[in-house]
Amino acid sequence: MQKLAELYRGKAKTVYTTEDPNYLVLEFRNDTSAMDGQRIQAFDRKGMINNKFNHFIMNRLEAAGIPTQMERLLSDNEALVKRLEMIPIECVIRNRTAGSLVKRLGITENQVLNHPLFELFLKNDQLHDPIVSEAYCKAFGWASEAHLAQMKKLSYQVNDVLSKLFDDAGLILVDFKLEFGLFENKITLGDEFSPDGCRLWDKKTLEKMDKDRFRGNLGGVIEAYEQVAKRIGVPLAPFSDNVSANKKI
Ligand code: UDP
Repeated sequence: MQKLAELYRGKAKTVYTTEDPNYLVLEFRNDTSAMDGQRIQAFDRKGMINNKFNHFIMNRLEAAGIPTQMERLLSDNEALVKRLEMIPIECVIRNRTAGSLVKRLGITENQVLNHPLFELFLKNDQLHDPIVSEAYCKAFGWASEAHLAQMKKLSYQVNDVLSKLFDDAGLILVDFKLEFGLFENKITLGDEFSPDGCRLWDKKTLEKMDKDRFRGNLGGVIEAYEQVAKRIGVPLAPFSDNVSANKKI
């Protein structure tokens, strides 16, 4: 499927229309952003790693019965996806304390939560993605009660599938962000799942293996992404149209 026109250029991905109005091309660039896009740096190979990482994870989620927008890989840096009508809300699941939760409550990092938390944030860089509630979503019409219930259920299912997948690879899934949209009126997982949008710590050393390496200037950003990809079995060989990596599970 050919790219037609640029639809939207985000902080790390560019989205293109195709000849089919129901499908888009996601291009994963090497750019990495922090502080709501105020700090951006390009890392060689990052677009390729995140594209293949995302494809691998989305296929695993589909296989577990979670509807995703993923269709197939198109190249090292591009994937074909369903065009969703996006809901302007970020869904965050947390298994341990980290990041904005630690700052907001003035607590220490790495406390195991009694039950995973489900949080909602409004997508708005200028306002730094403020935390909102289900009542806010309903009051302002960002998402209906039925859609929110579905998003919450699917987010917890994603947590079950991926916590196990990363645990088997010696990694702790600390927290992650998901974005959903509607495809033919059905809540469907969109955007991406990669080390840019989750926290992954080594089980033994608690070493950070995700975008916190960039946020905290820890170095070894791409090395960590690549190691995580290898540990969970993401095929990173150069793209070929017939390789098994591209077949749906
Ligand atoms: N996250 C994201 N995009 C955002 C905000 C958060 O992908 O705009 C991810 C982040 O990488 C982490 C989780 O969501 O895995 C929870 O992030 P948090 O609320 O702690 O915010 P942060 O301190 O990371 O900005």
